[in-house]
Amino acid sequence: MADILDIQGLSKRYGAVLALDQLSIKVPQGSIYGLLGPNGSGKTTTLGIVLDVINASAGTYRWFGQPISKATKRRIGALLETPNFYPYLTGEENLRITADVKRVDHSRIPAVLQTVGLAARKANKFKGYSLGMKQRLAIGAALLGDPEVLVLDEPTNGLDPEGIAEVRGLIMDIAAQGKTIILASHLLDEVEKVCTHMAVLRNGKLKAEGPVSSIMATNDLVFISGGAPL
Ligand code: ATP
Repeated sequence: MADILDIQGLSKRYGAVLALDQLSIKVPQGSIYGLLGPNGSGKTTTLGIVLDVINASAGTYRWFGQPISKATKRRIGALLETPNFYPYLTGEENLRITADVKRVDHSRIPAVLQTVGLAARKANKFKGYSLGMKQRLAIGAALLGDPEVLVLDEPTNGLDPEGIAEVRGLIMDIAAQGKTIILASHLLDEVEKVCTHMAVLRNGKLKAEGPVSSIMATNDLVFISGGAPL
């Protein structure tokens, strides 16, 4: 299968801190690709660079075989931090505002509400949503432009167990619709349950990459599950 994202030799230095050290990974089309590593391992820096919001110190990346451009960005949906939805507006009204900000038309809003399981609650005010519903709406906002790939940074952080289950289920539903998903997480069990492929990062370096089953079988990932100090 073709690679959706091909990262070659990516490095990022913040003063004395080498946040990313020659990272090379390939995200296969149709995968749910977990970027797994403890806090500070470079996951957010990697996503920031490939989404063109952080400058790399060295290295290259290509989306769909091409350098990043306005056209490639339209094919990528991203949720890096929780959007500021309006609490007293409904879920649907919030999506309309997001669509206007992103300059995409409103035609996909019903389908997005359906995908994220909020069609029946679209007329309810955002402030009454559960944590899981709020996060599902945020994922819906990232889907408004009908992207081919969805990039999510720690999408279950801060959720209750019910919300975590809802969001993980939603990620798998979206992948089943044919979209590629890139998911940064510090949780080994999340990546194991949800992802098909994974890269393991530690101190900005790639430790392992491949299908989840083969990585789990051949690597000692105790530094992640145990939360051992870096
Ligand atoms: P987290 O889950 O905590 O966000 P992460 O794996 O996403 O962790 P990054 O946020 O990419 O890791 O951080 C990688 C390293 O770069 C860390 O040592 C962090 O302190 C450092 N770092 C990140 N952003 C900056 C910045 N703007 N200035 C200086 N250092 C930074």
